Amino acid sequence: MGLLTPTETGPLQQVTTLRLGIAGSESNVAIGLRRLGAPATWIGRVGGDELGDLVVRELRAEDVTVVAIRDTAPTGLMLKTRRTDAITTVRYYRAASAGSHLCPADVDEDTIRSAAVLHVTGITPALGDGPAAAVRKAVEIARAAGVTVSLDLNYRSALWDTAAASAALRELVKRSDVVFAGEHEAALVVDGSTPQHLAANLAQLGPRQAVLKRGPAGCVAVIDQAPYQQQALTVRAVDPVGAGDAFVAGYLAELLAGKPPAERLATAAATGAFAVTVPGDWEGLPRRDELDLLTATDPVIR
Ligand code: ATP
Repeated sequence: MGLLTPTETGPLQQVTTLRLGIAGSESNVAIGLRRLGAPATWIGRVGGDELGDLVVRELRAEDVTVVAIRDTAPTGLMLKTRRTDAITTVRYYRAASAGSHLCPADVDEDTIRSAAVLHVTGITPALGDGPAAAVRKAVEIARAAGVTVSLDLNYRSALWDTAAASAALRELVKRSDVVFAGEHEAALVVDGSTPQHLAANLAQLGPRQAVLKRGPAGCVAVIDQAPYQQQALTVRAVDPVGAGDAFVAGYLAELLAGKPPAERLATAAATGAFAVTVPGDWEGLPRRDELDLLTATDPVIR
């Protein structure tokens, strides 16, 4: 999607300047992975318009391989409002957008078969029947080829109702190897009175790796049947949006690098923390040689 972000805090009607950029959970993850040195390919549908060009250009500038199908409908748009210093609201203009026309024919089988990991989110199936079928097809191709399936539940209440989301997400969880969720998102799919409980119950559905993201409280996980816990790093948060995608990129980069669970979660906590330190969703994502910066004691590094 295109993204418009006000440069000022306050009601949108009073804002005078908007910055134009791109947004999207999957593209954020792809950029995060590339910055950490892992190859990444993004498959999606954008309009044949300027915003579509912008999405493709930004992803290519980050060295992400792009498989972009062009549509006659316009590229979707997201509008952020920083209503107060602490509260960001988001509006979507994506009904009937190019992305909502994604369909099974767009799914590039060879790209998926040759990947180590297929990453999908719960946002795509919320865009309509075609996108939902495209995700199901991508997942089935990956499973048949022995490609690890990674899923971030990413429930978006503006895009579908709770009952439809919980049924569809539950089916996707059952077909995934790695699942990321917030506490409320996990509770759409399984019961559980504590975060650890929720992670364990997600894992019971099939995934060998279930990770529960808990914002500044860190995360808990059940990986290969063992419980894990990881604290968040202490940073000055200026924009919470994008932390989840950054976290996923950090985790998957270490999974791809063959690192053990505790290291995956430690890097994920660092990339999640980096994301909240700058206003954009993905701009602050770290390169591998920057990962230690957040724990540096000297504010100036020469
Ligand atoms: P998003 O807003 O992108 O959808 P999310 O809800 O999916 O985010 P969060 O739980 O907010 O994901 O954040 C993911 C991870 O990022 C957390 O588990 C934590 O490690 C890190 N993180 C999030 N917020 C902060 C913060 N304020 N300070 C430090 N680390 C943070």
